[in-house]
Amino acid sequence: MPYFKTSIFTLAISACLFSTHQTNAQKLIPPPFVTKEWQMEYKPFRIVGNLYYVGTYDLACYLITTSKGHILINTGLAESVNMIKSNVESLGFKFSDIKILLATHAHFDHVAGMADIKQMTGARMMINERDARALADGGNSDFVFGGKGSTFKPVKADRLLHDNDTVRLDNMQITVLNHPGHTQGANSFLFDVKDETKTWRVLIANMPSMQTQTNLAGMEGYSDIGKDYAYSFAALKKLQFDIWLSSHAGQFKLHEKHKPDDPYNPQVFIDRPGYDETLGNLEKLYLQRLNRNPQ
Ligand SMILES: [Zn+2]
Repeated sequence: MPYFKTSIFTLAISACLFSTHQTNAQKLIPPPFVTKEWQMEYKPFRIVGNLYYVGTYDLACYLITTSKGHILINTGLAESVNMIKSNVESLGFKFSDIKILLATHAHFDHVAGMADIKQMTGARMMINERDARALADGGNSDFVFGGKGSTFKPVKADRLLHDNDTVRLDNMQITVLNHPGHTQGANSFLFDVKDETKTWRVLIANMPSMQTQTNLAGMEGYSDIGKDYAYSFAALKKLQFDIWLSSHAGQFKLHEKHKPDDPYNPQVFIDRPGYDETLGNLEKLYLQRLNRNPQ
């Protein structure tokens, strides 16, 4: 009898835990797609000054360190959180010192780990006001991927960012530039870092790529999408910087510029022609699409 009682008890407890787990799990639907490159490990390294690459092989995550704590930009997929944590630690920094979380835009491949990282670090999440709703409902209000449920754990932002706002921590001042289209609240970050030789102006650009479903004539929940893309191409072309980076390693050709274990060499990321070419190619696609779906 005692055995029987214990079994029932154990079963009841497990059923309870299982159903809680199931309920949580059921809230999330699988992301529409993932690639091997998004999930593969990549050796973290110092890009320039106090800016480090801590992402996966293709999903770029950036750590900006200061004496008053750190800033993390983007997280990759939810499964990559532990990888990002160990990347930060292997560079000699404490994960719990992350004070501010930022994102180039609220798509699952850049923010799916935010909820867990926020919980682990207690950092303040700051998102462009125009992506705050998508971040808070796990992407369900996204005009392309939304409508079927949350693809990532929702996060309520602690601060809403607007075009030209400044994010400050210690001696860092990061300018937030809204470059809408890919999402309404997509933004780039522009800031200076110093190393032993000079001050470098860094741009982390949200490149205005389109989804196959994007209709520039207007989409439900995003009627001005065509205009927004036009604005972002024009705005991005005007920016001045020494080094440019982006949300995906492939966009700024990280793997051509840097190999794991290469010595510190920020010069390899000086690449205005590559930036102009990448933007130009995306603009060509945009213009082709515009001819098919005139605004
Ligand atoms: Zn995206």
